[in-house]
Amino acid sequence: MRLSGWGRYPVLDARIHAPRNLEALRDLVLSEPSLIARGNGRAYGDSAINAAATIEMRYLNRMIAFDPTSGQLVAEAGVLLGDIIAAFLPGGWFPMVTPGTKFVTLGGAIAADVHGKNHHKEGSFRACVDWIDVMGADGTIQRCSREQDPVLFDHTLGGMGLTGIIIRAAIHLRAVETGWIRQTTIPAPNLNTAMAAFNQVQDATYSVAWVDCLGTGASLGRSLVMQGEHAASVDLPPERAHAPFDIKTKRRWKIPFDFPSFTLNRFSIRAFNALYYWARSRKTGTQLVDWDSYFYPLDTILGWNRIYGRRGFVQFQCVLPLEASEAGLSALLQETSEAGAGSFLAVLKRFGPQESPFSFPMDGYTLALDFPVGAKMLALLERLDRITIDHGGRFYLAKDSRMSAGTLRAADKRIDDFRCMRKKRGASDRFCSAQSERLAI
Ligand SMILES: Cc1cc2nc3c(=O)[nH]c(=O)nc-3n(C[C@H](O)[C@H](O)[C@H](O)COP(=O)(O)OP(=O)(O)OC[C@H]3O[C@@H](n4cnc5c(N)ncnc54)[C@H](O)[C@@H]3O)c2cc1C
Repeated sequence: MRLSGWGRYPVLDARIHAPRNLEALRDLVLSEPSLIARGNGRAYGDSAINAAATIEMRYLNRMIAFDPTSGQLVAEAGVLLGDIIAAFLPGGWFPMVTPGTKFVTLGGAIAADVHGKNHHKEGSFRACVDWIDVMGADGTIQRCSREQDPVLFDHTLGGMGLTGIIIRAAIHLRAVETGWIRQTTIPAPNLNTAMAAFNQVQDATYSVAWVDCLGTGASLGRSLVMQGEHAASVDLPPERAHAPFDIKTKRRWKIPFDFPSFTLNRFSIRAFNALYYWARSRKTGTQLVDWDSYFYPLDTILGWNRIYGRRGFVQFQCVLPLEASEAGLSALLQETSEAGAGSFLAVLKRFGPQESPFSFPMDGYTLALDFPVGAKMLALLERLDRITIDHGGRFYLAKDSRMSAGTLRAADKRIDDFRCMRKKRGASDRFCSAQSERLAI
């Protein structure tokens, strides 16, 4: 079958297996010389593709146990975050950490050690994981946690499926009083003011900025910085307070075909950005926003990746250390703007000090930019790679689809330890993806 990640680039031939139980999964692990687990295919590139054997985990999706006193949930790896929310939000529980889509599996969230808008305050997905059961190359299942086999735990979080197959995990959920978020938007006319706004809201649970990356000169880095807090019952107006978890069912839009590649060009993106900034910067002050609109605005448009056309798109996401962030972000935005290559989606987040042996985050700022695939864009991305390396930054493997092994090595000195760990555990010649081969991980 032809298979790709969310960016629809690259598209590769792969044999897919979809085991329905642990025995079938174990048989595959023991018989296939090389394989990789796949969750819901929301990583952008080729991290969940192995040409010889890609193992879809979506059928191993039972919720096993829930403790309503501690909020601990034990579930299989194929459970979607959206299913967890549907099952537990009515009882007052929400994921501690969530990426910008709820269509990810528990296994995918652990393997990428995903981050949300609260990394600066609460860390990555790791922070809510109590233990993980991992199937190794010999078919046995090993439980790991901070106390039990911490090496396996540390490298499975962020290890992109390369340490083994995550079977199930225990995570803890956050108690919430309502399904609403109090959101405040701060318009920032340039990068300096955006960074000052992030500092101003550093105690907020959630913060994120949308960046107009076609801004130039005094408007370079023009942004809308949005902070959010879970609303308490007393924050809701009386008409909502009696049903604090009910939100209006959203109309879902579906993109039925690939847009022609000229749809997204510098003029349409400039017009969109100008309009968006104008409309949103008028909505200052605090507003109540439902959880789905706040955390997952793109999920209402099913198949939005088709907007980029048949050739697909790539996402560039790097993190820069705090001390180099201002200079590095300016250089990245300047390069993007000079190339006339506006990104339709440009997102800036502040990461906090939590780090782990192979996960993406570090204390600093992370910038994510989307570009349609094309020769000019790929050349621009190499220049963005160089800027990131020169400023001491690193790259997010869950978004990567085109980096070279040399670039990864130049940015991330942890690769050798990770490779060594994989080798010791017998994982390196069994759990491989198109990405791990391209990057020589
Ligand atoms: C619209 C959108 C917004 C996003 N926003 C964010 C964000 O804000 N923050 C963020 O961190 N990420 C974000 N992402 C990326 C996404 O959260 C990650 O790529 C996540 O890993 C996808 O999960 P998945 O279940 O689809 O896994 P897949 O894409 O199928 O796989 C991703 C990786 O996980 C591994 N994997 C999957 N299941 C298992 C398993 N059971 N055992 C072992 N390894 C496994 C795969 O081998 C692969 O390496 C976003 C993606 C999209 C499309």
